[in-house]
Amino acid sequence: MRRIPILMYHQVTPTPAAGFAKYTVTPKAFAAQMRWLAITGRTPITMTTLVQARLASQGWPSRPVVITFDDGFRDCVEFALPVLQRHRFIAVFYLVAGLMGRTSRWMASAAGLRFPLVDWTAARSIQDAGMECGAHSVTHPPLATCSAARGREELVASRRILEDRLGREVLDFAYPYGSVTPGVRTMAAEAGYRSACTGEKRLATDEDDLLLLPRVPVYGGESLLDFAWRLRTAERPGQWVRRKLRRGGHA
Ligand SMILES: [Zn+2]
Repeated sequence: MRRIPILMYHQVTPTPAAGFAKYTVTPKAFAAQMRWLAITGRTPITMTTLVQARLASQGWPSRPVVITFDDGFRDCVEFALPVLQRHRFIAVFYLVAGLMGRTSRWMASAAGLRFPLVDWTAARSIQDAGMECGAHSVTHPPLATCSAARGREELVASRRILEDRLGREVLDFAYPYGSVTPGVRTMAAEAGYRSACTGEKRLATDEDDLLLLPRVPVYGGESLLDFAWRLRTAERPGQWVRRKLRRGGHA
């Protein structure tokens, strides 16, 4: 069974906000992580490549990795995109179609935060740089708790809006908050998506449901060793060791 890490980033900025530090990687840490991918011979691939390889039962390139960014924070374009381009890496940006050029207002109630989101010009520059844009709903609700009609609209309209404005097919989705049920998954299929990422934390395999792909989170404040270990196990070394010990019955 082949396994592939689908890295999940959110914010990349030099000044992590207190309420969102866990999901914020500094540009320095991000540069070190991308350098690690380069020197360890990793090949970043898009969702298109991942899906096509799966559907055609072809092999992935050797040592593949998928780099994804949820939410479309403007700082990611300023601080992560140049690093990706320097390495000629490709990544997938999941955009909130109804809030382009505005702020992450879905974070306001819980964390009291609002970050600027990319506008259409920035989204096109991401695309022109060879990156892939996917959908992350229209307004970023947890789809598992939405009515069927609202959930369907979030899936269908975000795809339509992004395709209209970017002039390209949008076939990849990331569930906001990783919130998904069997019903939501079915609606994603009906909306025409070929892949969808969850927040389930493990490496993806070539047997996974393409509409329920797990990911490897990259959190702020973690070391390069944590990152290297996550690439292989989705966990930090300590977590991985504790789990192995539990499974071995020694803990
Ligand atoms: Zn999100």
